[in-house]
Amino acid sequence: QAKSAGRNTVRFFDPEMQSLIERRVTLENELRDALHYKQFILHYQPQVDRNGRSVGVEALVRWQHPDGRIIPPSEFIELAEETGLIVSLGSWVLETVVARLSEWANDPERSHLSIAVNVSARQFRQPDFVEIVSRLVEAAGIDASLLRLELTESLLLENMEEAIATMTALKKQGVSFSLDDFGTGYSSLAYLKVLPLDELKVDQSFVRDMLFDEKNAAIARAIVNLGQNLGVTVIAEGVETDAQWQFLIENGCHSFQGYLFGHPSEM
Ligand code: C2E
Ligand code: MG
Ligand code: MG
Ligand code: MG
Repeated sequence: QAKSAGRNTVRFFDPEMQSLIERRVTLENELRDALHYKQFILHYQPQVDRNGRSVGVEALVRWQHPDGRIIPPSEFIELAEETGLIVSLGSWVLETVVARLSEWANDPERSHLSIAVNVSARQFRQPDFVEIVSRLVEAAGIDASLLRLELTESLLLENMEEAIATMTALKKQGVSFSLDDFGTGYSSLAYLKVLPLDELKVDQSFVRDMLFDEKNAAIARAIVNLGQNLGVTVIAEGVETDAQWQFLIENGCHSFQGYLFGHPSEM
């Protein structure tokens, strides 16, 4: 059949591929609408110290779809990144977090809590990212040291020089930085010497099987030691059991996040 269509014609029809593309286009349009109609919400998950006291929260975005579902970021962040919509979404997240910090500043029960925000590569690389963040912080009059930006290894390695410049400028305002999902990238450790980080975040994949798998335990322990030797704090994510928490405390981990202390929720 394809042959009879002529030498220079390539017939390509794969129904599965077709429906994949259609779903992607639909999702992209829905995402655009979601930004316009403000269908996103933030959930906050507690971060605690060794005594179990709340020291902060991580803001995690959810999409309140008009059909009633609450859609997790795993289903839309990647597409938002590919389409560039992440830049607007990221701005909305930052604005919302700064507004929340400003509210909490007047609440004696919450005024000490920091908020960690996940920042995507495209958002971080905006030429005016420093100005955007500084302006938000200044306009709200919040304590910038309560705003913590979570970056990933791959983001930082894309352009190390630029990343250092952006981080340094924001650190001057008091903003702090955490390295998310630490240990899951393919990077060398040398960059840790030059990046002005405040915190390493042990990826939950190491915490998950820590107590049943000697190798994961060794990695978790090594990350905590590394943090101590570099003079940065270490937070473990995905802590679900008391035994995991105790193990991490015994090995010198500073702070903890996971279902053991609370699921992400509106606060
Ligand atoms: P992440 O930053 O590493 O966030 C931790 C994820 O682990 C969250 O998933 C959280 O709900 C989940 N989690 C927390 N405690 C536990 C636990 O004890 N056990 C297990 N199994 N999981 C736990 P979530 O909310 O689905 O977010 C997934 C990822 O989406 C985040 O990973 C982050 O990379 C991204 N993300 C979330 N919000 C934003 C955002 O506002 N902007 C950007 N750029 N990315 C975001
Ligand atoms: Mg994170
Ligand atoms: Mg993480
Ligand atoms: Mg993660």
